[in-house]
Amino acid sequence: MENLTIDGKRLWDSLMEMAGIGATAKGGVCRLALTDLDRESRALFTRWCEEAGCSVGFDAMGNIFARRPGRNPDLPPVMTGSHLDSQPTGGKYDGAYGVLAGLEVLRSLNDHGVETEAPVEVVVWTNEEGSRFAPAMIGSGAFAGVFDLDYAQNRTDMDGKTIGQELDRIGYKGEGCGGRPVGAYFEAHIEQGPVLEAEEKTIGVVTGAQGQRWYEITLTGQEAHAGPTPMARRHDALVGAASIVTAVNRIGTSFQPDACATVGMLICKPNSRNVIPGEVFLTVDFRHPNDGRLAGMDQALRQAAEVAAETGGLELKLEEIWHFGATPFDQACVAVVKAGAERYGHSHREIISGAGHDAVYMAKAAPTGMIFVPCENGISHNEIENATPEDLAAGCEVLLHAILEKAGAR
Ligand SMILES: [Zn+2]
Repeated sequence: MENLTIDGKRLWDSLMEMAGIGATAKGGVCRLALTDLDRESRALFTRWCEEAGCSVGFDAMGNIFARRPGRNPDLPPVMTGSHLDSQPTGGKYDGAYGVLAGLEVLRSLNDHGVETEAPVEVVVWTNEEGSRFAPAMIGSGAFAGVFDLDYAQNRTDMDGKTIGQELDRIGYKGEGCGGRPVGAYFEAHIEQGPVLEAEEKTIGVVTGAQGQRWYEITLTGQEAHAGPTPMARRHDALVGAASIVTAVNRIGTSFQPDACATVGMLICKPNSRNVIPGEVFLTVDFRHPNDGRLAGMDQALRQAAEVAAETGGLELKLEEIWHFGATPFDQACVAVVKAGAERYGHSHREIISGAGHDAVYMAKAAPTGMIFVPCENGISHNEIENATPEDLAAGCEVLLHAILEKAGAR
């Protein structure tokens, strides 16, 4: 069978039209979840899907599902999609690309008169970014059963408005959420990192998402005068913290490949130039795609922190505040993505997602795969985020292949 084509220009034009909703002066997008602009983007998506012959509905989290029927309505749908909400200074492609690549697949199936065995659904997940409402990825998380509906609907923004209230206001609060089978889930997304561009690869075959462990550490020593206190008698909390910062960096380096280790926040008290610091608070962010390796990093951190405390005569409080296991994607779905890249002649490499995506939660509810395409200089969550029409079209071809394989049309 010859390779089915998609219409790269139509995909590009749709992306640019969508980017007009909430367009910023610097060429980006500001479309926060459940605002009037979000409603506008949802309405445009819905209109396009209805014009493509889909039935469109939404659930109690405002997740929108556009369904193209299959020959066998009893089969669970093959699903693809992403999100339409953005960061306050977001780009045109993060999220919108995955949604509109899904729509382009449906339009192409129509063009070619292809019937699939299973239904195909394109989904828009609510509040992926976590910018207006925390936590992130809450629409897909509720669908996948990670969050219960009551909790999810009652998350509030800075003004105290809940997700449930805002869904009501913009007219996107439906009934029920999740609890239905999904045959497979695929998500196309820009990489949001530099790897594909640097290696001149068009397709990232995503094998899974990293695990994450977050810590808060407080070291307590003793405030003292910087002049009269001899070096040997000090309990300098900042010196202890410094050795932890260095250790975290060393741990990241020694758990290569794939480890990331960051101290992103450090608060020194009293933060006065002639006072020996009495207390330091710092945060640690560890990421690794392998839970065993991540556990090794955890151990190394605890050891280093204890040594730092003991050496400096400090009191140590170390608390793990978040642990999110590594999420390997379904091997068959990963293989289908790779086969799609090969079928269409696109260079590719396996890659691990460093960021969270709706697909990470969907992997708990359905066999899941992801397709990455390069973005310029690896920059995302930024108004200058950029990707080429050719790469976006290539990712869409791979998505088409994956959906046809899983929905059964070959
Ligand atoms: Zn995204």
